[in-house]
Amino acid sequence: MSLQISERVRSLAARAQSELREQFDRIDAIAEVNTQKVLAAFQKHHVAESYFAGTTGYGYDDLGRDKLEEIYADIFGTEDALVRIGFVNGTHAISCALFGALKPGDILVSAVGAPYDTLLGVIGVVDKGPGSLKDYGIEYRQVELVNDAPDPEGLARAVQDPRVKAVLIQRSKGYSTRSSLSVEEIGALCAVVREHNPNAAILVDNCYGEFVEEQEPTQVGADLVVGSLIKNPGGGLAPTGGYLAGRKDLIEAASMRLTVPGIGRECGSTLGQNRALYQGLFLAPHTVAQAVKTAVFAAKMMELLGYATEPTSDMVRHDIIQMIHFGTPEPLKQFCKGIQFGAPVDSYVTPEPWDMPGYDCPVIMAAGAFIQGASIELSCDAPMRAPYTAYLQGGLTYESGKLGVMLAVEELLRSE
Ligand SMILES: *Cc1c(COP(=O)(O)O)cnc(C)c1O
Repeated sequence: MSLQISERVRSLAARAQSELREQFDRIDAIAEVNTQKVLAAFQKHHVAESYFAGTTGYGYDDLGRDKLEEIYADIFGTEDALVRIGFVNGTHAISCALFGALKPGDILVSAVGAPYDTLLGVIGVVDKGPGSLKDYGIEYRQVELVNDAPDPEGLARAVQDPRVKAVLIQRSKGYSTRSSLSVEEIGALCAVVREHNPNAAILVDNCYGEFVEEQEPTQVGADLVVGSLIKNPGGGLAPTGGYLAGRKDLIEAASMRLTVPGIGRECGSTLGQNRALYQGLFLAPHTVAQAVKTAVFAAKMMELLGYATEPTSDMVRHDIIQMIHFGTPEPLKQFCKGIQFGAPVDSYVTPEPWDMPGYDCPVIMAAGAFIQGASIELSCDAPMRAPYTAYLQGGLTYESGKLGVMLAVEELLRSE
């Protein structure tokens, strides 16, 4: 048995890989530093078989759950953390953080343009039903990008109002065209907020960024980081969930939104999933490196074929996302089809663009994952509008990610 990959694509792949040695060494070095961090935290907290047992029902006294939260806090360098399978996704975790940090009359500022699409309904920028921050009398302001880059002067002006109680910084680009922020850039934005409004809580949407660098935003001034467990920190094993790590008061307030005021973090059974969350976290630095290598490999392959990529294959990475600009709809669709054909699950289906809720144009999504929607697994999606850009991410192993990209290129070349 072997995959149908032509000599042309195989030799292109060999060339791409041979030219990436330096990049791969850099990525592996970061994985080693982060693995050390994780391993040290596991040892400090005496992780043992008994932590994996878990609870049912109310979930009182779930030792493994509570210890995992201490471990997350250590890894992110924070006072506290909340790591729960009860978060249905990253948006839910971010929403709890926002509702916890803000009260009626307060103002939320988004520091780098519009936030991720699903947060528009949470904030109330678009009406997606009742219960948004806006419905509760919380105002929203947004610092627009200047030439697709953060605007520190604009941020300084926006946060000066003492009613600004929370500032949201999104690390990854989402479906925007700006670059993802480095941890260093996030640190610079945090310094601006601190200087002009020391009372505002700085919340970072950390989705897709965890373990890509040696430091996390909470180590350069952020008060809280939030993310999804079916992305980087779940290591491909967490079946669902989200996390927050940061200041104790912000974690406590968010926990009251996850469950209810008065109960907060005391409840939340783990239903036998503690082991998956521990093992996933243990693997996460390595898994993230696999995804970053897959992204870099995809960039190099497409560059050799004459396509524009972002970031380019030689750039230092700040998240696991790879953009590929196709310019026209057909090659984009062919590429996504090929990614789907390369998946371990659902490889026999053909992705088609569809009108996804919350988007203003059809979106095509290729994913064949063990965990539904897990984008730490190889996946590719694209809004079907100019400049016809694919957003590729994930790859549980570099080998499988590489093969997926080779099959996508095969599909692309077949239709040329
Ligand atoms: C994935 C993601 C989210 C959360 O999305 P969910 O699908 O709700 O997990 C938020 N922000 C960014 C930048 C993301 O990439």
